[in-house]
Amino acid sequence: MLPPISEADLSQCEREPIHLLGGIQPHGVLLAFSEPDLTVKVVSANTQEMLGRPPEALLGRPLGEVLPPSSLAILTRALLPPTPERVRIEAAGRFFVGLLHRSDGLGVLELEPFSEVGSEEDALAMVELLLSPLARAQGPLGLLQAVVEAVRSLTLFDRVMVYRFDADWHGEVVAESRDVTMDDLLGQHFPASDIPAQARALYTRNTLRLIADARAAPVPLVPAILPDLGRPLDLSDAALRSVSPVHLEYLANLRVSASMSISLVREGELWGLIACHHRTPLLVPAATRRACDVLARLVVLQLASEERASVSAELARRARFQSELVEPLSAEAGTLPVALSRQGELLLGLAGAGGGALLFGGAPILVGATPSADEVVALAGWLAGQHFDGTFHTARLGQLHPPAAGYADVASGLLAVRLDATAPHFVLWFRPEMARTVTWAGNPQKPVVPGPGASRLHPRASFAAWQETVRGTSLPWTAEDMATVVGFRGALVGVLLRHAAALARSNAELDAFSGTVAHDLKEPLRGIQQYVGFLLEDQGEALGPDGRQQLEEVRRLAGRTQNQMDALFEYSRAGCVELAWGEVDMHELVDEVLLTVSARLRENQVEVRIPRGLPRVECDRVRIQQVWANLFTNAAKYHQPGEPRWVEVGFISPADAVSVPARRRPDEYVFFVRDNGIGIPEQFHENIFEMFRRLHPAHAYGGGTGAGLAIARRLVRLHGGELWVESTPGQGSTFFFTLGERPR
Ligand code: ADP
Repeated sequence: MLPPISEADLSQCEREPIHLLGGIQPHGVLLAFSEPDLTVKVVSANTQEMLGRPPEALLGRPLGEVLPPSSLAILTRALLPPTPERVRIEAAGRFFVGLLHRSDGLGVLELEPFSEVGSEEDALAMVELLLSPLARAQGPLGLLQAVVEAVRSLTLFDRVMVYRFDADWHGEVVAESRDVTMDDLLGQHFPASDIPAQARALYTRNTLRLIADARAAPVPLVPAILPDLGRPLDLSDAALRSVSPVHLEYLANLRVSASMSISLVREGELWGLIACHHRTPLLVPAATRRACDVLARLVVLQLASEERASVSAELARRARFQSELVEPLSAEAGTLPVALSRQGELLLGLAGAGGGALLFGGAPILVGATPSADEVVALAGWLAGQHFDGTFHTARLGQLHPPAAGYADVASGLLAVRLDATAPHFVLWFRPEMARTVTWAGNPQKPVVPGPGASRLHPRASFAAWQETVRGTSLPWTAEDMATVVGFRGALVGVLLRHAAALARSNAELDAFSGTVAHDLKEPLRGIQQYVGFLLEDQGEALGPDGRQQLEEVRRLAGRTQNQMDALFEYSRAGCVELAWGEVDMHELVDEVLLTVSARLRENQVEVRIPRGLPRVECDRVRIQQVWANLFTNAAKYHQPGEPRWVEVGFISPADAVSVPARRRPDEYVFFVRDNGIGIPEQFHENIFEMFRRLHPAHAYGGGTGAGLAIARRLVRLHGGELWVESTPGQGSTFFFTLGERPR
């Protein structure tokens, strides 16, 4: 009898000693013998049926008593290294296919009655069947589909499928050929525990395994226990090894009587199995099995090249996505994330993701199925603290960043690229939880019920168990995904750098140019003014009134040009000043500025209003003085004649419940200068900040160069703040500014 298997062994499949079950399947007979004397030491209990002698008549006897001299000679030769696996043996007047290996120091001969199948004609047909799938294959899945069809017509199994293992040893049925009466298992997922580790180890070692009749009682070995070792003969390499009760239960749940599996071993690793099932017992002849084994080896080789081809096709496809996505970006820098998000499908296709997020500073832009904006911002904050080299990926985000467990449905998988080492700028791709994207291949409406005996070794129960095992896990990110986003990051950073460089270059060039021009023209202009002055003094009388007027005009123009040059010089200097940050009492500062412009204010009869005391803030006092001065001068200048004029200085505090979109930080003060002057038409609200832009002739409203607001805005932006206007023509204008934050 079989050694007893405890309940504990059954529940702990991983520990089930399937190689020491001590029995064989009844379609063959086993003889184990010592060498070199060839004395029989262990036999299977069915020697009487197969060889015409009971075990007692064989044990301790020389093999020569069972085999005729010709077969004995074949066997003796086969035992010399290198040991062949199979020999043709005659015994008790019948022919057998003999499989030979060594175990526990004994020679082990397994004999199966020879079948007529395997004649030369059949062999040719087999070769054709074997090779056709390899020739027809289109892509890895096409190849596997062709293989299951070939194996099925070769063996006549009711169902043949390819079962592929993933990195965690969970399995998936990726190709299937079946009789219409068999359940459809294509696309079915199984947890790793369905094929425990020690079974996988055996599958790697013995690549083909047949269970001809799952219901047939196993044939025990005699003696059951090897006296020297105190345990049954190790049957790891025996083709006839009987089936583990757990596996039998599994087959019963599938309503399968015969099964065969052929391992697909790739670079020494079990990649998958060709699994065959039959409703009734099926004894596949040894030659056919061998043909299937050869096919499996060829398939693995072919698979590698099919996969290489499909990987490069996939990479090419992704590269196309990338260029479609990135090339149009070159035009416009400010709108980069917006432009990317408009191409949402390409962006997601790039990484095979269900959702994406673009974080370029400011609010995240979301594409597809993603966590909420707040969740994405929190995630980016967490990511910013992770150390990684350009890209980051996980298929189990919830385990690394616990809040993500709450949105596992959309983002169990995260692939991120960082665009800037100094700022938390990212592109993120999300993948949903795998268990939610994969559905039960059979009828999803049927409830999942474990099979009898509370076993979960039933496809439906297996599926449920698999779903449970992979909770919170997304499909893994592949090498192609990674390669693509690394390339994309490179392209994107390239675009960003080009923009930054172009901007920096044009600013720097303009500044250098205008600085030099302003400086170089200053002296000649001063010279012209002086010369004209002397000329008027000395020769004025002689020139007559017309000549004098022309010279005056020359002096005025030169003076104006000089003012413009001074402004340009100041503007370009403002682009490169080092701010002298300090704490400033804004009220005091404004009072000082008002003193310096008081003459202008009085002259224009402008009333100054400061309804509440201004706060203390951090800024560069000299530069901000300049800003206030410009705003006050303008407020004084741009009035209709005659009205009562006023200008109000005020601020919006963070405590005032007023929303200011330009405010960068919630705790930022917004200062303003409001007047009841002529106002500015809406279409000029931006233009007036351009250099030398005036809305009025130079001499109107007291004149100006049109540089004041451009310089003021530059100084405010240097602080990290913003300067803008709200105005209604005929009613007045309000100029607002913020001050940003002192860099630490
Ligand atoms: P300018 O030296 O001409 O005052 P600015 O750059 O200071 O140059 O202003 C640009 C233009 O914006 C001005 O020419 C004027 O038309 C308009 N402007 C500026 N401030 C005001 C204001 N408070 N009210 C009406 N218009 C204004």
